[in-house]
Amino acid sequence: MEDAEEEQRRRLKLEEALEIQSLRRIISAYLNYPDAADEDVRRYERSFRKLPPAHKALLSHYPLKFQRLRRCISLNSHFIFSMLQAFEPPLDMSQDIDLSEDQHPEYAQNDHLFREGIDSCSCESAPLRITCSVSNRHGCVESNNDSCRSSVLVHPNEATVTSSQQQWLDPSFQLNVPLVDVDKVRCIIRNIVRDWAVEGQKERDQCYKPILEELNLLFPNRSEESPPACLVPGAGLGRLALDISSLGFICQGNEFSYYMMICSSFILNHCQTVGEWTIYPWIHSNCNSLSDSDQLRPVTIPDIHPASAGITEGFSMCGGDFVEVYSDPGQKGSWDAVVTCFFIDTAHNIVEYIEVISNILKDGGVWINLGPLLYHFADTYGQDEMSIELSLEDVKRIALHYGFEFEKERTVETTYTTNPKSMMQNRYFAAFWTMRKKATAAQQQVP
Ligand code: SAH
Repeated sequence: MEDAEEEQRRRLKLEEALEIQSLRRIISAYLNYPDAADEDVRRYERSFRKLPPAHKALLSHYPLKFQRLRRCISLNSHFIFSMLQAFEPPLDMSQDIDLSEDQHPEYAQNDHLFREGIDSCSCESAPLRITCSVSNRHGCVESNNDSCRSSVLVHPNEATVTSSQQQWLDPSFQLNVPLVDVDKVRCIIRNIVRDWAVEGQKERDQCYKPILEELNLLFPNRSEESPPACLVPGAGLGRLALDISSLGFICQGNEFSYYMMICSSFILNHCQTVGEWTIYPWIHSNCNSLSDSDQLRPVTIPDIHPASAGITEGFSMCGGDFVEVYSDPGQKGSWDAVVTCFFIDTAHNIVEYIEVISNILKDGGVWINLGPLLYHFADTYGQDEMSIELSLEDVKRIALHYGFEFEKERTVETTYTTNPKSMMQNRYFAAFWTMRKKATAAQQQVP
């Protein structure tokens, strides 16, 4: 008995250490942004210096461009640093952590457990209590090593973060992070444009507007006393969830990336005015640029003041892995609508996602989906990640199996975090559907 308790205590301690480690790595990636970006500029300068004098003379404006790039980097860094300062880590980040194998042999063995997250998380904890587990090594923003395990409630009407000592921002607590992590920070900057800038309006009109219109149509007489409940798994930076809340739904966004959560929490909780911040999202690519001024153009954020967006009471962001959080028996039949936008292809096992969505919907509830099937774990370069990559046809067949029936289906042409002024515009022909969970779904058995 005591052994079991001791084992449990050790496990919790290890988990906490892993959470701290993982969060430190993410914070370090944010903090490494200025150096990594400056290193790029130094590389451009080195190439410029190698030019023959006659060619250099033709590009005499380049030194000024480098200077301007550095100024943009420093303003982006100012935004990032302010965001981190507003963030209150849920754990004591100054703790000494020892994850060496002799201290924690189980770390080596059970790494996969932590990647998947072994604890399920509830959605009831205090505002901005984020904990983070997991440590793995994928390359994209959506990967599990960024994930947070328990919940975050974001209240746009309240300043929920109190000041802390923030020793964890001190350089001595920083880790050396691989450049791929800093790349994630750049991805986040592009996501900010998608969700929170006027420049992102076109993309939001392509992706979010059809969803909002559909919700409006499907729930015509929304009661103010008891509004319908809508869940948005993979909520990213929270704009879609906020817009759904403003439409008159009790909306919850679910998101497992700490990169995303730190940023959405800052915008939702701390931005005081429209256009409060100016960032330079497009400086990191010299490719497909029509002009230097396009590349160096500023973008102001946010385009709306979240706290004045007329949200419906009960708006929240819940941190954690979708499957873990919403497989909780208490979630069964809780939601009137589930909205997935560019989310279902993040699954290791998309069948599991569909099963959970069906399970948490009320009978007669709706699932609105918009997105491609660019399976995130399809190419993990020898890491042998579990990944079930179904065709759209199979996805739909599985959905029918879990008690859904189709109400609407069409294709939506859209971009995703694309620079609207770039010479390259990747387009998706995204599937957009509304499915309804049949009243009998609960009785259906899957062979
Ligand atoms: N819906 C947003 C973000 C789409 S990107 C938009 O349209 O802009 C997919 C998002 O899902 C990422 O933010 C990623 O971190 C998140 N995500 C991926 N797997 C997840 C999981 N298992 N649980 C919760 N969120 C997840």
